[in-house]
Amino acid sequence: MKFTQLRLAGFKSFVDAAELRIDPGLTGIIGPNGCGKSNLLEALRWVMGATSAKSLRGGGMEDVIFAGTDSRPARDRADVTLTVDNSARTAPARFNDADILQVVRRITRGKGSDYSINGEEVRAKDVQLLFADAGTGANSPALVRQGQISELISAKPENRRRVLEEAAGVAGLRARRREAQLRLTAAEANLARLQEIVDDLA
Ligand code: ATP
Repeated sequence: MKFTQLRLAGFKSFVDAAELRIDPGLTGIIGPNGCGKSNLLEALRWVMGATSAKSLRGGGMEDVIFAGTDSRPARDRADVTLTVDNSARTAPARFNDADILQVVRRITRGKGSDYSINGEEVRAKDVQLLFADAGTGANSPALVRQGQISELISAKPENRRRVLEEAAGVAGLRARRREAQLRLTAAEANLARLQEIVDDLA
């Protein structure tokens, strides 16, 4: 799975729509302090399903929407589109017919955010699993924040293990196991309730 394009509109300092082509190989972003380099990385995390406002350097999730400047009014919505080359067919079966996947996340003030893949509305979890299976995602160790290296060096062994699991693509399996366990617990509760009804009728 390769990222080929990132498009942002109304996201943080990117008030006007901006498109970036991501070519094979290493991509570097250069520019003066405060020009929005970190905002680009945050857009990448966000479209892959980041749920922590803190990891996006904001107080609340709506802080990703352009907040306005002296010369431009604030926006009411932000969207980020990540175009992914799926010609290696690594996406989950549901999305695996397409060579190119367009993953979109939008947020509107007061209404929260939603996601789509190739125009089909999906859950945050679908997007998170899509990237987790490919060994990447909002918390991928490949996206290195300032100060992250020293955090990793002093991290507890279990936190360091989590980083390795994400890199190995195990994070998606862990999330699916958690989801299956929740469904099993709900099914067991239903069965117990059913048994009570059967006992009452007997
Ligand atoms: P540095 O090199 O100093 O780390 P940078 O190039 O990584 O800087 P960013 O941190 O990505 O820059 O961008 C910071 C800019 O983004 C600031 O000018 C800040 O005001 C602006 N910004 C952040 N959030 C918003 C928002 N919601 N609305 C408008 N502008 C925002």
